[in-house]
Amino acid sequence: MIWYPYEQMKTMKAPYKIVDAQGVYLYTEDQKLIDSVSSWWSVIHGYKHPEMNRAIQEQLEKFAHIMLGGLTHEPVQRLSEKLQNWLPGDLDYCFFSDSGSVAVEVALKIALQYYVNQNQTQRTMVLALEHAYHGDTFKTMEVGDDEDYHFVLKAYGKSRHVVHIPTDIDALEQAFAQYHSQLNCFIVEPLLQGAGGMRMYDVSFLRRARELCDAYGVLLIFDEVATGFGRTGNRFVADLVLPDILVLGKALTGGYIGHAVTVATRRVFEGFYDNAPSQDLMHGPTFMGNALACSAALASIELFESQDYMSKIHRIEQITRREMLGFSDPRIREVRIMGGCVCIEVYDAADIRGYQQYAYRKGVFSRPFLNYMYAMVPYVIQENELVKVLTTMKEWFLETDKLAIRE
Ligand SMILES: *Cc1c(COP(=O)(O)O)cnc(C)c1O
Repeated sequence: MIWYPYEQMKTMKAPYKIVDAQGVYLYTEDQKLIDSVSSWWSVIHGYKHPEMNRAIQEQLEKFAHIMLGGLTHEPVQRLSEKLQNWLPGDLDYCFFSDSGSVAVEVALKIALQYYVNQNQTQRTMVLALEHAYHGDTFKTMEVGDDEDYHFVLKAYGKSRHVVHIPTDIDALEQAFAQYHSQLNCFIVEPLLQGAGGMRMYDVSFLRRARELCDAYGVLLIFDEVATGFGRTGNRFVADLVLPDILVLGKALTGGYIGHAVTVATRRVFEGFYDNAPSQDLMHGPTFMGNALACSAALASIELFESQDYMSKIHRIEQITRREMLGFSDPRIREVRIMGGCVCIEVYDAADIRGYQQYAYRKGVFSRPFLNYMYAMVPYVIQENELVKVLTTMKEWFLETDKLAIRE
């Protein structure tokens, strides 16, 4: 029996069974669906991409996996070299892991130990954002701020080691004034908070955060597990404001194999570079640097560059803005668009209940949550396909309105 994610197993409806996938399409036995979720925001090149498949198959002929403890191999060396050259600033030191949550754990561990290594053991606190989501492991839950994901934390009550603030510069300044001597890091999903409700905020907040982190010696962590690889319309938000630690996941491998990376700047890396074993970073996921995942990531980045994905993403944003222009409904609180993300937030979650089944009948796979109906499409989507996704979202409101009147 499969225990499905984020579901009440007693009441969940049967999941759609996918029998094939190609390009932006998922196939069930009886329906062809545009995947407007990109398999949790990761499948940026679509399914069964020939070059992604080839890269993985070629590596598979050599070996699928070897551990990084005492061993190394070409795909992981090439990927770290590629990331070192491709990522901004001196984000040069790559620690690989098997999932975004673990990569965030590693980032938080690095930030804490960075100060422990300097005998600053009082810096135990993390500053984070309200509505933050950083993963489902224990420390990432604690740093996150969304009760809907973390009912279990009720057992502990609020952590003394985390402070949450809104994306507001006054609140940011106040938090630094109050807590700066205890903080080891400030962690954010930059510009776009995904699982917390596709909340978007301005880069000026991040610029001020960078200044305050510099002024008080606090490490700035960007969790770009969701925002990385173009989703916000920037290649990485780190291209606009340089963090001390950057976390990438989801689209890192084009959604082919679970993998993630925590990337540190030189200053952070040097905080561990010492003769004393007590200064080591004691972490080592079994599948870190998996050779198939590294090969997939290399092929994914290669496609991202050679096929000019940033212009594809800008086109997705333009089409989305054009299609959503003037669209409104009294049930809608806000329509938000940023890069390759569009979100319709409703006042009442009941107003989008049943949308997934409706979209299925129209040939679109969608997974609304709480008050949010959204799309994060694969970047290879064609204009007519994107218009279909957006039209389906809009027509839901038009058609359910008619139903309400008829009743
Ligand atoms: C999805 C997500 C994670 C967790 O990644 P997993 O691979 O699911 O563990 C962490 N941070 C952000 C911002 C995410 O969107």
